[in-house]
This record gives sequence, structure tokens and C-alpha cells, in this order.
Amino acid sequence: MPELPEVETVVRDLRREIIGERIISLERSNQKLRRPWLEIWSPRIHTRVIKKVLRRAKWIVLELDDSSLLVIHLGMTGQLTIESAAIENPAHLHFRFQFASQRELRYRDIRRFGSIEFYESANLWEQSLGERFGPEPWDVDAKTWYDRIHVKERNLKAILLDQSFISGVGNIYADESCFHSKLLPTRLGSSLTRKQSHQLLISVQEVLMIAIENRGSTIRNYVGGSGLSGSYQGQLKVYGRKGELCLECNTIIEGIRLAGRSTHYCPKCQK
Ligand SMILES: [Zn+2]
Repeated sequence: MPELPEVETVVRDLRREIIGERIISLERSNQKLRRPWLEIWSPRIHTRVIKKVLRRAKWIVLELDDSSLLVIHLGMTGQLTIESAAIENPAHLHFRFQFASQRELRYRDIRRFGSIEFYESANLWEQSLGERFGPEPWDVDAKTWYDRIHVKERNLKAILLDQSFISGVGNIYADESCFHSKLLPTRLGSSLTRKQSHQLLISVQEVLMIAIENRGSTIRNYVGGSGLSGSYQGQLKVYGRKGELCLECNTIIEGIRLAGRSTHYCPKCQK
């Protein structure tokens, strides 16, 4: 499932390619995605120009020239790419936003857990989200982070996965951030010292930043907006490495179930 670094990579790729493009038509498949596209939205985007490409949590937001938004979620297997209109349709293609330039934005999704929706304004979209999203990882200061984490009687894995606590961290980067901070994912938030809490925040930020520099991790079929895969999966220290040796200390990496998810850690490096 795409996490923050993968979604940010798609956003950065799209930003280079589609700002200034004018939407002249939309073609859709008849298959249902997680949330429906309403037919009344199609005329609303006709002839609109894409002004901005933004990311909030794991959402991709295309801001149009009348301040309306196209809001995209990649779900499990969503792929958003720019292609020449002349290129043949691949299987599992659900949206083709055709541009005046003869190029198009395509949305492909094998498992169909993703969605594309239209909102009149950023305000209306934010209202629809409610309080579900915590701050972006780079918008939190060490004191606020500590104040929020040290009152939690939940384990670090559950806290990092909680999107209302922090936005965009999923299974891979929660495990990698715990390893980077040398903290066990089973530790309770309330057990962290100020110093450990600060280290965890720095680790989350650093792990995500390096993953973005590597265009994210391609575990199944994720590709960025330019169609290129990620390469961070080659740098994972614990995620998916159960039974393999820790790259730092040669201890066998453990795999457990925590917060309902497969969780990986080094029992020696992490305390
Ligand atoms: Zn180790």
C-alpha cells in the first residue's frame, strides 16, 4: 500500500508534468472504485486548468483554476501516470483525464480500493475529512510530540499507524522508524523519556525523507507519476526481513503481530 513517501513521489512527478494542462474530456470505466465518481462532476472539470499538485496525508490533490479540487487516493494498488493519448489503454484503467496537449492523466487500479473525487473547494474537502488527520511529520515540534506521545498507553507501532496522531506513516515506515530510533515497537508511548521521544520524531522524519529521495518503496506494483518504481525497498533494515540477520548486529530479526499488523524489529538493537 502506498505510504507517504510513495504518494509524495507521485505528487512530485505530477507537479513537473501537469501544471498548466487543460482538461478537455474524461473517460471512465464502469467499475466501482472505493468511492464513486458522480456524473454531475464531469462537466465541472471540463476546460479547467490544473494549477497546483499537493499532498495531504496520503491524498493527492489537484487544484484547478476555479479553486475546485480533484482528490485522489491510491488505495492499495492505484497508479496515476501521465501518458500520450496515443498509447494504448492498459488493463484495469478507470480514469483518463484528457488534456488539450494530447496527453492524459491515467488512473489504473487493480484492486479498486482507491478513488477520485471532486470538491468545490478546499474548505469543503477539509470538512468532509473531519478531524481524522494528524499533522504532517515535518509540522510537529519536539515538545508537542512529547506532550502527545507520553500520555499514550498504547505501543509505538499503534501510535505511529494512527493517522489522527501523525499523517501518512504506514506499516513499512513505522517499523523502519522504530529501528532507526533504537526503540522497540512494543514500547508504550508513556514509557518514553523526552530524549527518546525526540529521537523517535527525528527518526520518523529522517526515514521518510530518505525514502522520498529514493522514490519510495516498490513492494507490489507501486509506480511514481512518471511510471518509475521506487528503490527504498533495497534499504529496508527490518521490514519484511523476519528471520534474516540484522545489518547492524547480526542478530536474527523478529517478526510479530502488533496493532493488528506484521511487525519487524531487532531484539538487540532496539530497547
Ligand atoms: Zn540489530
